[in-house]
Amino acid sequence: MTSSLILATHNQGKVRELGALLQPLGFSVTAAGNLGVTEPEETENTFAGNALLKAKHTCNATNLPSLADDSGLCVPALNNAPGIYSARWAGEHKDFTLAMQRVENELKALQNNDYSAYFVCALALCLPNGEQHVFEGRIDGTLTFPPRGDKGFGYDPIFIPTGYTQTFAEMNPAEKHALSHRARAFEKFVAFIAANKTVV
Ligand code: IMP
Repeated sequence: MTSSLILATHNQGKVRELGALLQPLGFSVTAAGNLGVTEPEETENTFAGNALLKAKHTCNATNLPSLADDSGLCVPALNNAPGIYSARWAGEHKDFTLAMQRVENELKALQNNDYSAYFVCALALCLPNGEQHVFEGRIDGTLTFPPRGDKGFGYDPIFIPTGYTQTFAEMNPAEKHALSHRARAFEKFVAFIAANKTVV
């Protein structure tokens, strides 16, 4: 049986990526934007909070099971910035060269040798009966400057996952996708769906 799931995003890239992952699980996905659902402002101060806010907003508007994600890069030496502001550091023109430069400048200004960092992804599921579930994935690594590689997006060119020598932007996409924060959050979601088939 196919279940409907509304993806609480207006980003067509995310719709394609999540849609491809969800289809084999028996879900047909629709983007919230295609149903005329507006995008709420991300006013929470955690990844999980913002993912839940987006999923709830879409579930309330459609009365259908809704899935949302929120993700970003955390740098412990910068008090975990840019964190939930990862997209916003790139400015309205989504210039990640600028955002990566800002990370480098702030680390250099601190004269801090701790270049550790991690990516987080929170996936939130909201059901019309009020149930809410959050699944989080994290990948640890180290930052490197200048940026290297052209295969990824966002902060990929400055992030080397622990145990590897290439940045996320130098790896082939399949290798990155197998170990990324998104893949790890998604694994938890899949395990939940497998154990609770009747929920959605
Ligand atoms: P969101 O769309 O609000 O979840 O914004 C997430 C932001 O975090 C993106 O715009 C990227 O800047 C950053 N980000 C999240 N995941 C990744 C990743 O896998 N690689 C590089 N940057 C990422």
